[in-house]
Amino acid sequence: MKIIRHLTILGSTGSIGESTLKVVALHLDRFNVVALTANKNVEKMLSQCHCFHPRYVVMLDHDSAEQLTVACHKDGLDTTVLSGVESLEKVASLDEVDMVMAAIVGAAGIRPTFAAARAGKQVLLANKETLVMAGRIFMDMVKQHNATLLPIDSEHNAIYQALPHDFAGDLSAKGVRRILLTASGGPFRGVPLSELQQVTPEQACAHPNWDMGQKISVDSATMMNKGLEVIEAHWLFNAMPEKIQVVIHPQSVIHSMVEYIDGSVVAQLGNPDMCTPIAHAMGYPERIESGVASLDLFEISRLDFEQPDLVRFPCLALAYQALATGGNMPAVLNAANEIAVASFLARKLAFTAIPTLIEQVMQTISYNAIASLDDVLEADNLAREAARDWLAHHG
Ligand code: NAD
Ligand code: MG
Repeated sequence: MKIIRHLTILGSTGSIGESTLKVVALHLDRFNVVALTANKNVEKMLSQCHCFHPRYVVMLDHDSAEQLTVACHKDGLDTTVLSGVESLEKVASLDEVDMVMAAIVGAAGIRPTFAAARAGKQVLLANKETLVMAGRIFMDMVKQHNATLLPIDSEHNAIYQALPHDFAGDLSAKGVRRILLTASGGPFRGVPLSELQQVTPEQACAHPNWDMGQKISVDSATMMNKGLEVIEAHWLFNAMPEKIQVVIHPQSVIHSMVEYIDGSVVAQLGNPDMCTPIAHAMGYPERIESGVASLDLFEISRLDFEQPDLVRFPCLALAYQALATGGNMPAVLNAANEIAVASFLARKLAFTAIPTLIEQVMQTISYNAIASLDDVLEADNLAREAARDWLAHHG
């Protein structure tokens, strides 16, 4: 008999959230959706309520929650609609929930993701920003409360699959020489440097291989995404930065690799579709259908690899710098990046000024140790203020 798992999806109207619901829809005998959350997309949430009948919905935005309450009532849906960050924390930690998909974008995801870990849930982590901002205290929280952490980010999910099953945080004890973190290089890998200044949000969001939310699409175009992922890998796998090699692999077929001291390199391959890592984590330790087509190696025919170009992609170098400094600096990097990306999307900042702004903010704010989530949130706030200040003078 299959055991039914009870699920909360944080950020269900986003790209990862929708892919998660696609996997749920294939396994209605295995997964029961207890709660869904979103920022303000009432229409999409209403249609998800019709399909999945969640017990609770949280709209961060109060007005959207009111609209949804009216709509649910009108349609005869028995869903309790809540609003605000405390409600996000509540549905991430309900007693009846076993599994929480953390798929809110950006720093906004940190509090509910922490709540899920604190409540000892199985946390499926797409929200990499939580680990970037608060890696050490989040990993401690997971351990202390006996939560299970499974990475959804395709690279980290691949590394997880390529590591031994009993890996417990000591790479050298398992004979691992290094981690090979693959990156597509984004839409601007081959664009002449002189043209980068002019690129538009539409061009930045047109990723060659992956269909993702806007923020992570821009992060992929600047390669800040890979920088955030180096920090994410550092915390997830207890890997020193020099043990993490970024490898540009434009086809996005190999999702990352683990190299062992005997020279073996173990890779996970698949079509670039997030339903694969999502199904891996949702079914774990069993394998379940994801709806993703078989990988056609004859069609792909070749796999290419290149060194990353730190001149073209200064964001990657800034992320390494933030990781080396430690303390508040990764949270500062993340917050400055969120402001820079939002300004670029609003056409108020040139693409090439994204790293300029981040670097300025990292120089303005001095190093501080981090001991608590409050310290992290304070660093995040300070960096946002500094970034807005810089924009007011230079944007
Ligand atoms: P998205 O923009 O498509 O969706 C974001 C979701 O978060 C939406 O449901 C939105 O309503 C909700 N949200 C936005 N702001 C919020 C706020 N302030 N408070 C509460 N909820 C809020 O983003 P996405 O592409 O699905 O990415 C989600 C996370 O997963 C990100 O951390 C991203 O880095 C990570 N991730 C995404 C992909 C991908 O393929 N999309 C791959 C790897 C990792
Ligand atoms: Mg990734």
